[in-house]
Amino acid sequence: MNTHHVGIIGAGIGGLSAALALQRAGVRVRVFEQSPQLGEVGAGISLSPTAAHALNDLGLHGTLESKAYKPEDQCVRHWRDGRPLAWVNRGQALFDKYGERYYLIHRADLHDALASAVRANDPEAIVLDARCVAISQDEQGATLKLASGASYSFEVLVGADGSRSVVRHHLFGALEPQYTGYIAWRGLVPLHLVPKEILEPPSGVFVGPGHLVNRYPVRNGELLNFVAFAERKDWTEEGWSIRSTVKELLDEFEGWTSWVRRFMELVPPHLLFKWGLFDREPLETWTRGRITLLGDAAHPVLPFLGHGAVLAIEDGVVLARALAGATRHEDALQRYERARMERAAFVVRQSRAAGKTFHDPDADTYKERTKGRAADEGLGLFSYNPVTQPV
Ligand SMILES: Cc1cc2nc3c(=O)[nH]c(=O)nc-3n(C[C@H](O)[C@H](O)[C@H](O)COP(=O)(O)OP(=O)(O)OC[C@H]3O[C@@H](n4cnc5c(N)ncnc54)[C@H](O)[C@@H]3O)c2cc1C
Repeated sequence: MNTHHVGIIGAGIGGLSAALALQRAGVRVRVFEQSPQLGEVGAGISLSPTAAHALNDLGLHGTLESKAYKPEDQCVRHWRDGRPLAWVNRGQALFDKYGERYYLIHRADLHDALASAVRANDPEAIVLDARCVAISQDEQGATLKLASGASYSFEVLVGADGSRSVVRHHLFGALEPQYTGYIAWRGLVPLHLVPKEILEPPSGVFVGPGHLVNRYPVRNGELLNFVAFAERKDWTEEGWSIRSTVKELLDEFEGWTSWVRRFMELVPPHLLFKWGLFDREPLETWTRGRITLLGDAAHPVLPFLGHGAVLAIEDGVVLARALAGATRHEDALQRYERARMERAAFVVRQSRAAGKTFHDPDADTYKERTKGRAADEGLGLFSYNPVTQPV
């Protein structure tokens, strides 16, 4: 048995948030990542006030201030002519109500900041090229086995290994992915190429029959990030990084407003990818004894509300609060799960419902259909604070 208290499998945004939160609570951690290098895919991520509370608590307020784009108002527009259908505040009004606002950030910028902070606390904390293939536990501790044959034991193990989690599979068996009928493209466009008149305001959503486009600046205004969703009957591959072409994208968005097509025309082909969206039924529990799950491993969520990483970051902060100073680890993990289960299930349900709302064939009635829901108020998404939530 080595001297680390908590082993984390997966150095994504969830695993690193948990590692940093645990270190700051005085717990020694080791994170095992299968990839030979640390990194994140080129895409933007929206961080709600709840994630901002968590990241401030982790000492990353400076990263949000220096790297993230801070939207004030987001406009929902009509697919055919770009006319405004709704305005949603993402800035001061949220701050006044929730004590935090929205931030839009490049995933790699957030991931780098988390990894640097974890390594600054302990240069050995992240182990690369370390793919977990098996886990086990007994009265003394929990053990993970790597593909290399090495094994490591800890007082607690955390599976933060994403939606196709090996840890979840070992604990609870297979969770079959269901294709949702949606595919998506993601792309990054150098912002200086994009005409200013189609960036009013820069953060915007476009709704149309069977399709949805979301775009916003990242990397402090250097890049325009977009995600474009479309319904498609069949799809087999699960994964984020299948190459596409500008032609394929434009053909799918034939007849759409130049507000959308003009930036799509400008995406450099090497920054354009597509993937199919898969859903999984929520688990009833995430924990067995000394081993638990967090982030997408525990509760994969559809991306229509941009809340998967938000949940993973919240999980990390709450897990550390539950484990800090705990004498019985099994009890602490149960308290973590109780503090998180309802919140995660709520976001999973709302994300599924949002997919249907955005893709409704009748964009003209969007405003009436979403009255009181366009902002978070109808959803209650921001009424959670991982830093103060009782654990
Ligand atoms: C298009 C799209 C847009 C999104 N936009 C947003 C958004 O705006 N806001 C938001 O909050 N969320 C968003 N999300 C969701 C968000 O990206 C995920 O929910 C989040 O990345 C989950 O983080 P995680 O750390 O749990 O898992 P992951 O990011 O999947 O990380 C898992 C890590 O574990 C490693 N790993 C896997 N298996 C093993 C193993 N056996 N051994 C060792 N390591 C392993 C992987 O290499 C990886 O590094 C979006 C998702 C998509 C698809």
